[in-house]
Amino acid sequence: MNSEKGHIHPVTHITNEMVKAFLEMGFDVAAGPELEDEYHNFDALNFPKDHPARDMQDTFWLKDIPKLLRTQTSNVQIRYMEKNKPPFKIIVPGKVFRNEATDRTHEVQFYQLEGLAVGEDVSMANLKYYLNSFLRKIFGEDVKTQFRPGYFPFVEPGVEIDLECFRCKGSGCSTCSHSGWIEVLGAGMVHPNVLRNVGIDPEKYQGFAFGVGIDRIAVLKYGVDDIRLFYNGDLRLVNQF
Ligand SMILES: [Zn+2]
Repeated sequence: MNSEKGHIHPVTHITNEMVKAFLEMGFDVAAGPELEDEYHNFDALNFPKDHPARDMQDTFWLKDIPKLLRTQTSNVQIRYMEKNKPPFKIIVPGKVFRNEATDRTHEVQFYQLEGLAVGEDVSMANLKYYLNSFLRKIFGEDVKTQFRPGYFPFVEPGVEIDLECFRCKGSGCSTCSHSGWIEVLGAGMVHPNVLRNVGIDPEKYQGFAFGVGIDRIAVLKYGVDDIRLFYNGDLRLVNQF
């Protein structure tokens, strides 16, 4: 009998690698619902009432019940903090959904890995250490990163983390839009409002949070130039891994 061998999907493969990197640094893995309410996906995360992300154009809302498909894995931050007392360090790999047009770098469904650490004396320096260590584990010891200010409602201050373009090594090319850098992560210190919303005293505890697109890391690591290739079921792609 002639049977073909199965393969691990590249997105599964990179997810396992990313989870392993954080487990080695003492993080626990948490999970939560993909079908979520507005409170856990937006309100508790300090999104203003009129924030555009809540719009029908960006979020899949269900018709007959007041639920949505989560737009980020950050809902699990809230659910985890509602049930657990600090200190803790968790990661949340999972599926998220956005109601938007698809192109080379966007899909309506994709994977994110969320991170959250809360405790006494947790600082931006800790965040930087963990994220740099993570990126080195995935992309190699000589990877270069830059942290620059960014805005997300649930962190203050917020940062965006770029990786030096692996193709042109910083000199500028079409992959990095000629900037020499590729954005890979959003992060920051957990906003005091978010801690208050789950009953954690922001005077006593601080936290950092981050989110990274798993597909985005897979695209960069494997040099696949269209994210949609991961999901169209074409075995010619999957069989290469
Ligand atoms: Zn480049």
